Amino acid sequence: MSLKKDRRKTGILGGTFDPVHNGHLAVAELVLNQLRLDRILFIPAARPPHKPQAAITPFSRRSAMLELALADYPRFELCSIEENRPGPSYSIDTIRQLAGQSSETEAFFFIIGLDAFVEINTWKEWQKLPKLASLVVINRYSPRSVDSAAIIPRLFSGYKEKKKGTWSTEKGNSIYFPAMEPLSVSSTEIREKIKAGKPISRLTPDRVEEYIRTHGLYRDG
Ligand code: ATP
Repeated sequence: MSLKKDRRKTGILGGTFDPVHNGHLAVAELVLNQLRLDRILFIPAARPPHKPQAAITPFSRRSAMLELALADYPRFELCSIEENRPGPSYSIDTIRQLAGQSSETEAFFFIIGLDAFVEINTWKEWQKLPKLASLVVINRYSPRSVDSAAIIPRLFSGYKEKKKGTWSTEKGNSIYFPAMEPLSVSSTEIREKIKAGKPISRLTPDRVEEYIRTHGLYRDG
């Protein structure tokens, strides 16, 4: 009997989502399909460690926009696990909490941008991350494939490239570099466009655009 085969596969996409946009949805779809996951959790950070709190839209508003954006995707779920945890929202605490809440038959896949991955050794308890979840590294800014052979050995030991873009340890911990065409949208671009009175159509789902308009978000941020 192979337990491993039956494990539920859950992707984790954490972020500020201020606001959620089509780049987030595209990357989640790509990872879901390429790694054959069962679902993706979108986890808004309550207090992102790297951003000044005053500049961030309230958690309830960011969550409401996520709810609207995810409504059409049965395999995407909003997860508010960071909302009530005091202090900065560290990824390791979130993954540990999720793993603690789930049965042993669930496997987690933590999605991380390449820019963040190359600095992962500045994160809280970073060496424990790949033991709790597989890492999925997204090259957000360039269509070129990532030179993972130049990056992985600098950060982690014991990983070998089993097939192109898939690095694994003997114990079965893995780091994936899925091939993707980047979609250049960012939340910053949306906030700047709104401030400048420019349209944001096609950058985020229509329902999110309407929510932003109704609540007057980002006009004088
Ligand atoms: P900001 O512009 O405010 O910094 P952002 O657009 O980077 O925001 P985040 O909420 O910080 O959005 O991103 C959450 C996660 O989604 C991060 O891992 C980030 O790398 C990834 N991501 C965001 N936009 C894209 C995109 N266009 N393509 C691929 N990944 C993306």
